[in-house]
Amino acid sequence: MISYQITKWSHELFQMQVRPGGCYVDATMGNGHDTLFLCKLAGETGMVTAFDIQEKALEATGKLLREYQMEKRARLYLDSHTNMDKYLEAESVDGIYFNFGYLPGGDHNLATKADTSVEAIAKGLALLRKGGVLALCIYSGGDTGFEEKDRILEYLKSLDEKRYIVIVNTYYNRKNNPPIPAFVVKK
Ligand code: SAM
Repeated sequence: MISYQITKWSHELFQMQVRPGGCYVDATMGNGHDTLFLCKLAGETGMVTAFDIQEKALEATGKLLREYQMEKRARLYLDSHTNMDKYLEAESVDGIYFNFGYLPGGDHNLATKADTSVEAIAKGLALLRKGGVLALCIYSGGDTGFEEKDRILEYLKSLDEKRYIVIVNTYYNRKNNPPIPAFVVKK
């Protein structure tokens, strides 16, 4: 059976939209599973640029990419995703992946935060080329609270419909604050 876990689901939709062999950003590197997914999609010709604020995340991601011999396909930066515009040109990126929250097995205080997440999404949209997609895995409840989810959804709602298509999915019958996969396509 196909997995409908949020990350699997959003990977499927992400790759339906982007061209393979492109330029991608992992805005929240964590343990590197999404960076690895993007590196596979990048192939020999593409490139992945990945960010995290924790050294631990860069170590885990570097190790994972080396296991799969994909380390040459990614540049890993110990920096906030709010600075992604310092590393990439406007309108040059095919796809950007955000998987919000905290590093699994890590410090929950170092989770993504509403202010910086919204700022980084805005920067990401400026980097996307036409037809590019920004994918978001949004969480709420528990340690995470609701502010980040509410602020991101409010921001997505405010995007100009002439410039962006915004799709927000729901696990409609799932209880206890299910995760929200969302997608923004730049027209
Ligand atoms: N993509 C990851 C994976 O495949 O394992 C999971 C990401 S994890 C849920 C969220 C990550 O966002 C954490 O590693 C955390 O350190 C990182 N993070 C928090 N604030 C950040 C920021 N301002 N810029 C970049 N990364 C940030």
